[in-house]
Amino acid sequence: METVSLETAANYELPEIRRAVTKLLEPLGGMSAFITPGDRVLIKPNMLAAKSPDKAVTTHPALVQVVAELVIESGGTALIGDSPGIGSFSKVAEKSGIQGAAERSGARLTEFCDPVELRGEGTFRSIQLARCYHEADKIINLPKLKTHEMMTMTCAVKNLFGAVIGTEKAAWHLKAGSSRQMFARLLLEISLLKKTTLTIVDAITAMEGNGPGSGTPIQRGILIAGINPLAVDVIAARLAGIPSDLLPLEQEAVARGLAGARLSEIELKGTPYASVTAMTFTLPTGLDPRFGLPPFLATALKNQLTSYPTADHAVCVLCGICRDACPPEAITITNSALSIDKARCIRCWCCRELCPHDAMAIERGLLLRALKCLSRRKVSR
Ligand code: SF4
Ligand code: SF4
Repeated sequence: METVSLETAANYELPEIRRAVTKLLEPLGGMSAFITPGDRVLIKPNMLAAKSPDKAVTTHPALVQVVAELVIESGGTALIGDSPGIGSFSKVAEKSGIQGAAERSGARLTEFCDPVELRGEGTFRSIQLARCYHEADKIINLPKLKTHEMMTMTCAVKNLFGAVIGTEKAAWHLKAGSSRQMFARLLLEISLLKKTTLTIVDAITAMEGNGPGSGTPIQRGILIAGINPLAVDVIAARLAGIPSDLLPLEQEAVARGLAGARLSEIELKGTPYASVTAMTFTLPTGLDPRFGLPPFLATALKNQLTSYPTADHAVCVLCGICRDACPPEAITITNSALSIDKARCIRCWCCRELCPHDAMAIERGLLLRALKCLSRRKVSR
């Protein structure tokens, strides 16, 4: 059985976070059960973009600070690192409040930069991850619970994709293609390359809607912790009211027989589950229903049956960030106009995730619109 602990937290005030994290870790043996004096401990928050903590895009700095303090009190050296999807590491650290958290706790900020090649045993045989991530004695994973336009949800396992450095992320999106299942496989294989020591999920303020970059903050008031990030994700998903059939990562993990992939293999400790009952998060608009079509038909009808990105020309400033990040180079900017090649687009939604102006909108394919319209009529009858 995999143990996952839950604890409620009313707000991000430091005394409340310290109380909640201490209580959360009690069933797991406390922070000292994970840290040996002298350990170099890498704390990996979600540092997606330079957004303030109230936007719920990044892990809250109060949680980062308290975890770093507990690591140092247990005799470890605390490093806080990530490789942001957009913007410089220093700008993201400053705007998200994580730089201040590092300064106040005595931790050191470290940008993921130097890659080291690792040999995988699954589908992806060679993967480069940040050296400081690979060489850390212990890793504490601090994801934010958010909806995700490609993978439905991002939490513990998906947060570890940050160990892939900068532009290499786009290359991996391209290798996985438009298959959510293949991308889920990649994420699982990355999480298995270097086992994390502990995961603590920031779901005090989570994100619903068009996550992970442009969704709506939602008060959930919960911290979730466990050793196995997959088991933590399963619990986080149920608490967000997201069923497993909408989660390619969970489906892939079950198909591979990975430990912690099934609810029946997880023992919950701490605050009783019944007192933190699930809320149903609003899911991303761009999340397409799967119609159970055979792959050849789904490919042929891709543009009709799926949603695709489209720039809102009234808001877009033609900065080119989405074009530079687009894995299959489907975006072009010529003569002051942005266009997207729908046939090349793999629906990874990196453009929406990274656009600093929220200028990338969603357009539904013709058949998809018709089907949604029909289903609405059916309901209203
Ligand atoms: S859609 Fe956003 S990221 Fe892309 S060019 Fe326009 S403003 Fe820049
Ligand atoms: S246009 Fe956007 S969604 Fe399509 S492949 Fe490029 S980054 Fe991904």
